[in-house]
Amino acid sequence: MSAKLTNSGFCALCGQRATKTKMMAHVEACAAAHDEIGQPQPLVVLRFGPVGAPRYWLIIEAKADAQLGHVDALLRQLWLECCGHMSAFRVGRRELAMTTATAIAFARAASKIEYEYDFGSTTALTGELIGKRHGSIGRASVRLLARNEPLVWPCGECGALATLVCPFCIDYGDAVFCDAHAATHEHAAEEVYLPVVNSPRMGVCGYTG
Ligand SMILES: [Zn+2]
Ligand SMILES: [Zn+2]
Ligand SMILES: [Zn+2]
Ligand SMILES: [Zn+2]
Repeated sequence: MSAKLTNSGFCALCGQRATKTKMMAHVEACAAAHDEIGQPQPLVVLRFGPVGAPRYWLIIEAKADAQLGHVDALLRQLWLECCGHMSAFRVGRRELAMTTATAIAFARAASKIEYEYDFGSTTALTGELIGKRHGSIGRASVRLLARNEPLVWPCGECGALATLVCPFCIDYGDAVFCDAHAATHEHAAEEVYLPVVNSPRMGVCGYTG
């Protein structure tokens, strides 16, 4: 099962569309232009993506002293939350406390920080520090700057826009279908389908977006 090629996304602040590579330069300028009135403070810009699926990406900005728990909450909200599973940030084998200041966690990591949501049907992400600046983002500790646009999944039977995922088949090839072919797929009677959503957790556990 594979989505049509796209590497673009949208700026969450102004709606501008750009490729993953060009988006960094865009959000650098755009974030500063969208700052609120207030005392500038140190901020870190982070990029997250799933292991092995580079077409999903998020660029977020966090206050340097924001706790990793705030980053965790944003990742859950945007991509992950299905039934309140456990999650963890790790550097190598060492788990980081959710109270660790984000800037300190990412400064200490030599390369990427690993993140896992749900230790059973795990969604594994990596996060990296891609920028720093001083600015004022208001009361929230973290905010979304940009994310990939929804991937276009063709139905495994006819190529039309897929709307449903069969979680029984997701690890074995054709698992996304249009409404008509979902209705005739062998697992239709099981009533297990999940919606096609813009998340690397699509089709996993009870994730519905
Ligand atoms: Zn923008
Ligand atoms: Zn779940
Ligand atoms: Zn179809
Ligand atoms: Zn199936």
